[in-house]
Amino acid sequence: MFLKGLLTVTALGAVTVLSANFVLGLTDSHVVNNLGKRLSSLLIAPVSLGNSTTVVTRVTRPPENLDNHKTNLQNHRYDFSVKLSRGETLNDMLSRIGVSRRESVNAIRSFRKAFNPSRLLQGQEIRFTFQTNAKNLLSSKLVTLGDFLELSMSPDFAHVVVVKKKANNEFKASFNKRHLTTQLVRSANTINRSLFMAGKKVKVPNSVLSELIRLYSWDVDFQREIRSGDRFELMYKQYYDTKGKLVHNGDIMYGLLDLSGKELAIFRYVSAAGEVEYFDEKGQSIKKELMRTPIDGARLSSGFGRRKHPILGYTKMHKGIDFAAPRGTPIYAAGKGVIQYAGRKGAYGNFVLIRHNTTYSTAYAHMKSIKTAKGRRVQQGQIIGYVGSTGRSTGPHLHYEIRRSGRHVNPLKVKLPSGRKLKGDELRNFHTTRKKIEEQYAVLPRQLNIVLQ
Ligand SMILES: [Zn+2]
Repeated sequence: MFLKGLLTVTALGAVTVLSANFVLGLTDSHVVNNLGKRLSSLLIAPVSLGNSTTVVTRVTRPPENLDNHKTNLQNHRYDFSVKLSRGETLNDMLSRIGVSRRESVNAIRSFRKAFNPSRLLQGQEIRFTFQTNAKNLLSSKLVTLGDFLELSMSPDFAHVVVVKKKANNEFKASFNKRHLTTQLVRSANTINRSLFMAGKKVKVPNSVLSELIRLYSWDVDFQREIRSGDRFELMYKQYYDTKGKLVHNGDIMYGLLDLSGKELAIFRYVSAAGEVEYFDEKGQSIKKELMRTPIDGARLSSGFGRRKHPILGYTKMHKGIDFAAPRGTPIYAAGKGVIQYAGRKGAYGNFVLIRHNTTYSTAYAHMKSIKTAKGRRVQQGQIIGYVGSTGRSTGPHLHYEIRRSGRHVNPLKVKLPSGRKLKGDELRNFHTTRKKIEEQYAVLPRQLNIVLQ
């Protein structure tokens, strides 16, 4: 639906209704058009920021005595937001809402200096500010949205790109940090079935829970190690804009898992180089040199050890673990290393072997496709291929092996080599951060927020 189609003009230049529904791209907008009658009211466009509430500025004029009211008409500034449709460019959007070709070209040229418009994604919300032009509204010319003053958008929760028209009608772009305030939130609960359920019960947002699980997945096998009666503690940040609207559930500052009495605490620490990492209370990175699960959101479908082979039918040693996942799910390099094999390999199908150091290598089988090559260096977490069902396989899954000094070990059980340990000044700085985090956690009321700044 094109907004332009909503703009109508009467002989008197009288009635124009801009329904705010265009903001959401709805198609049931109505144009009220008292063609041939004297106007009774003027509705000037609307504001909506992503919800369906329609806010309309109404300037009412009695049908008789039109001239007396002309002088009361004022220029109104108004904002609204539009979401980028599928396949739509910024230029398309500006044209859709009725910005002139010339202004559109100028605004986009300026926008480009702060943000590459081709990186805008479908659904991105873009806010516009216009000013009605009272003179135009009263003339018999085509009524437009008025003067285009500004557009802005947030590429992520913390930043905003603003393109503003200056007095000389040129546009100027800026890329700014948004003014946000943070609150710390404390949550804790006993785990009955899963950490996820326990977190949901005390209203921890999904994104924060997923992140918590991801952080602990280096150390904890969530399928096997969680018992009823275990417990978690958590402190994370929330970001609010100047209107008090929650815009982001953010960084986990502290986490604790009590697994059958064994407490595993993690603390967020930003290194001197500006890198965010999590450490235990002794300053040992929680990251391991190898990942136990080199795939997201997969279900463990077959464990390590002797089992009846699903195709061959007889009992056979299963030298790895299987993760069932949809075809095409990305597979990550479990650690940094060099690709030793990448290609077809009998029952393994499409197969990759990574050598991590003199002791460890990892293997990945049945891939749909391989996204690396022999001899290449890979970083931990880099995509090396996609889940498939090549070779001897009954359905899409990843067969994953860890080999220690050439021997197959159980990826879920093996004690993995740990990442770095903080030393010297960095360790002292970490302990200062850790104590501050512990104090903040201690004073936060359970399940309540306090304002930090
Ligand atoms: Zn397998």
